[in-house]
Amino acid sequence: MLLLGAPGVGKGTQAQFLVAEYGIPQISTGDLLRSNIAKGTPLGLQAKEVLASGQLVSDDLVNQMAWARILDDDTKRGYILDGFPRTLNQAHFLDGQLSASALRPNLPVVAISIVVGYDQLQRRITGRRICPVCKSIYNAYSSPSKVPGQCDVEGAELTQRSDDTEAVFHDRMKVFEEQTAPVVEHYRALGRFQEVDGEQSVEAVTVAIEAALVRLRSS
Ligand code: AMP
Repeated sequence: MLLLGAPGVGKGTQAQFLVAEYGIPQISTGDLLRSNIAKGTPLGLQAKEVLASGQLVSDDLVNQMAWARILDDDTKRGYILDGFPRTLNQAHFLDGQLSASALRPNLPVVAISIVVGYDQLQRRITGRRICPVCKSIYNAYSSPSKVPGQCDVEGAELTQRSDDTEAVFHDRMKVFEEQTAPVVEHYRALGRFQEVDGEQSVEAVTVAIEAALVRLRSS
């Protein structure tokens, strides 16, 4: 299942519900890259500056990383791709690998695009704060912690992703419009595609995605 959409539409949040519901893993290329950066791997060292600037990591690097993860044992019954593919090149790579690979049975691909307006995305991204200890996510505008800047669970100081600042947000949106919007159109044209309104409550978006999946799997 491909979860498509601009930064901040809620792909990661929705993926977590779908993981619990269907028992298949979430594969987030952003999370994989951040984990490489945290561990200081050669891949992480290459990707660090690029992530901080809001630009995209090279297709080759991301393709190899994503495909290696897709071939892990836990994906045999399916998996949720979150944040990949993000360029037409990556989409063509994925389509080609899926239809050619003998290592993975050809699971039918369904694509869900979550849609949220620009102003709402700006508030979601620039307001996002994360607890470095328990990973709880807050939003300074819509769901602030009780004490500003401190996690409600254990009082740790909340952090902001380096690419969630106002300046980098606009650059990430530009990258989305130029490079990822064509990927959405690619999967729309292929069919087995559904758009979901991401401005509803988190629960309502989950319900809409599940309904879309039922429709797409029977089509
Ligand atoms: P995300 O967590 O999905 O918002 O991704 C954070 C950052 O990781 C992006 O702004 C890119 O710099 C990088 N990234 C994640 N996925 C990809 C991808 N599929 N292709 C290129 N860069 C990516």
